[in-house]
Amino acid sequence: MKTLLTGGAGYIGSHTAVAMIEAGHDVVVVDNYYNSSPEAIRRVEEITGKKIALYEADAADAEVMRKILHDEKPDCIIHFAGLKAVGESVAKPVEYYRNNIDTTLTLLECMREEGVTNFVFSSSATVYGEDNVPPFTEEMPKGVCTNPYGWTKWMQEQILRDATVANDELSVVLLRYFNPVGAHESGKIGEDPQGIPNNLMPYISQVAVGRRDHLTVFGDDYDTPDGTCRRDYIHVMDLAEGHVKAAEYAVSHKGTEVFNLGTGNPYSVLDMVNAFSKACGHQVKYEIGPRRAGDVQDSWANADKAKAVLGWEAQRGIDEICRDAWNWQSHNPQGYDK
Ligand code: NAD
Ligand code: UDP
Repeated sequence: MKTLLTGGAGYIGSHTAVAMIEAGHDVVVVDNYYNSSPEAIRRVEEITGKKIALYEADAADAEVMRKILHDEKPDCIIHFAGLKAVGESVAKPVEYYRNNIDTTLTLLECMREEGVTNFVFSSSATVYGEDNVPPFTEEMPKGVCTNPYGWTKWMQEQILRDATVANDELSVVLLRYFNPVGAHESGKIGEDPQGIPNNLMPYISQVAVGRRDHLTVFGDDYDTPDGTCRRDYIHVMDLAEGHVKAAEYAVSHKGTEVFNLGTGNPYSVLDMVNAFSKACGHQVKYEIGPRRAGDVQDSWANADKAKAVLGWEAQRGIDEICRDAWNWQSHNPQGYDK
């Protein structure tokens, strides 16, 4: 199978490229490097020993995407390309709606013109909103999102569902990721956020490596065993392997199917600090701060459907997550730049 990965040079896309190639599939990458570097793809080639067809292009540019689909004739598109910073989306909603929705609409139009019928989409657990109680199951009604980023995922899911209702030939798999973390075990690729990290694990990694003084834990007065929020942290290579199964499923089915990609196991912020401290061999410094606006107390998956239908379940736990995140961070303290 030939799979086109939009946003394939990014964090999850680059790890998925490795997993797809290791599963025997061909990979084509389209990225505009808005939040990534071609160095990530060079390293994927190093890990896999395979040359990757790489296009520097905007996935919302219909003319360019039509030509790429025409020339490459992929069996399936995995659409990672998008803007993903929750806080930034509040400050720049128009840019977020424009980029995230436009890329999906453009791809649907170009797919129709070029006869590509299989699509896997990077959605998020954020679509469950604030009122559903975890573990979240795919049948739960989508909730009210707390920021424009979340709404772009919510809306893209709806657009894709509507498109499959209107076109019997289309196959769409919506993947709701929980909290992707960790890195490829080689330490050659990993998460490389620009500026100050918003997310917990890259922040912890940068404290551990000495780039930042300490982590601020956003609130310890939640109704949880240690008072800090709980999340479902999933190793990025488990997530990547989930995409292989999802793409294989997409090409052999029609209609829309939605799957949670999570482990089903919640861990608190302090659980992650302690696991990382063990992995890196010294205590990660932290201070307790106020709650962060918009945070939900608890979020974790019921991951039964992916296991039953795709035959996929996460294999790696938080010790492997922290080991691999530390391996990446300690060998690439400044990310891909150095
Ligand atoms: P990332 O920023 O590392 O990767 C996204 C990639 O898309 C980047 O390489 C960026 O340069 C590229 N891109 C953005 N707009 C583009 C455009 N118009 N044309 C071409 N390329 C474009 O992010 P990631 O963590 O790898 O996330 C991948 C997808 O998964 C995103 O859609 C994100 O919203 C979604 N997601 C991520 C998380 C997470 O915690 N990382 C959780 C849930 C969902
Ligand atoms: N978090 C924290 N300090 C940070 C970043 C995150 O305490 O510097 C907490 C945050 O409040 C949440 C958890 O870590 O409870 C995971 O946050 P992240 O932003 O990684 O994921 P999300 O909130 O989107 O699930």
